[in-house]
Amino acid sequence: MRVDYGAIVENWAFFKKQAPTAAIAAVVKADAYGLGSIPASRALAQAGARVFFTATSAEAALVRKALGEGPQIFVLNGPSADDVALHGDAKLTPILNSLAQIKLWDARGPAGLHIDTGMNRLGIGPEELTQTMMALREVSPTLVMSHLACGSDLKHPMNALQLKRFTDAATLFPKAPRSLAATAGALIGPDYHFDLIRPGVGLYGSGGLDANNPALSTAVNIDAPILQVRDVNAGETFGYGATFTAPKKMRTATVALGYADGYLRSLSGRGYGVLGGAKRPILGRVSMDLVIIDVTDCAEAQAGTMVEFLGPNAPLDDVASLAGTASYEVLTTFAGTVRKMGVRG
Ligand SMILES: *Cc1c(COP(=O)(O)O)cnc(C)c1O
Repeated sequence: MRVDYGAIVENWAFFKKQAPTAAIAAVVKADAYGLGSIPASRALAQAGARVFFTATSAEAALVRKALGEGPQIFVLNGPSADDVALHGDAKLTPILNSLAQIKLWDARGPAGLHIDTGMNRLGIGPEELTQTMMALREVSPTLVMSHLACGSDLKHPMNALQLKRFTDAATLFPKAPRSLAATAGALIGPDYHFDLIRPGVGLYGSGGLDANNPALSTAVNIDAPILQVRDVNAGETFGYGATFTAPKKMRTATVALGYADGYLRSLSGRGYGVLGGAKRPILGRVSMDLVIIDVTDCAEAQAGTMVEFLGPNAPLDDVASLAGTASYEVLTTFAGTVRKMGVRG
């Protein structure tokens, strides 16, 4: 895995252009979607990012150590009894998601407030807002935020409904900066930008759930070497389950990449590698450490040659859709399983 941290910065700048009146945060949860939260945060902070989001306080503490004091680091999951102290030590800003978390935090420092507007996942429900204001003891939140359920479907009626609910609820906290949009939501239009947008997957080159955005730079490349090239007769079968039968004489390459590396098994018979400027289909099942591709009439196919499985010629959103999943899962499945090599920054 090669990660282009320069591309991540370019994508951050894309959101700056997209939402010129808002601040642009960087969501670096789950180790920056598997790309490395420390190098990603460092590159983004150097480019001017001042606000970061993680899911957990442990992730946030690592980012704090890498960035030093200054940038604001929000913890989306909010505090638990076990990590209230860590929030203080690492100067983290929790997002309070429930009355219980407000009580636990007990106004001991700046905190954001998540208002649920229809996702029903995290956040204060609309019926709890009066109690919330009382529980906050008149301390104004550092941020009021909500999250869109259907942001990548620009015309989905949920967007307008959530926008209205969010705008209404936020009037109760007139001093607090407001944030609603993540990657996809930022593209719906300026009404959704408010004071801060929170792109995550867009920084890493994907348009978001079921979406593609060709304006974004490729941040992740996965390449793997050919171990063996074979000439196979018509009627021969390939790999576990013998799920593919050669319809004619074929040349095939066995490549050192498998689901143990994070290359999803659901890409069996559906994914492809890129070699010699063409897509080379996967034949049969993806194994734990190996995959077989069709390299018939491909002069470049030799033991040791690298094949691209994710990158400019094998776009993340395309691979995700062939795997029947989202770019988020493709990225985080690679996390930690393959060797990372940074390029540019
Ligand atoms: C993960 C997350 C984001 C970032 O979402 P992307 O779709 O990756 O841009 C923003 N806000 C919240 C609350 C999140 O959970």
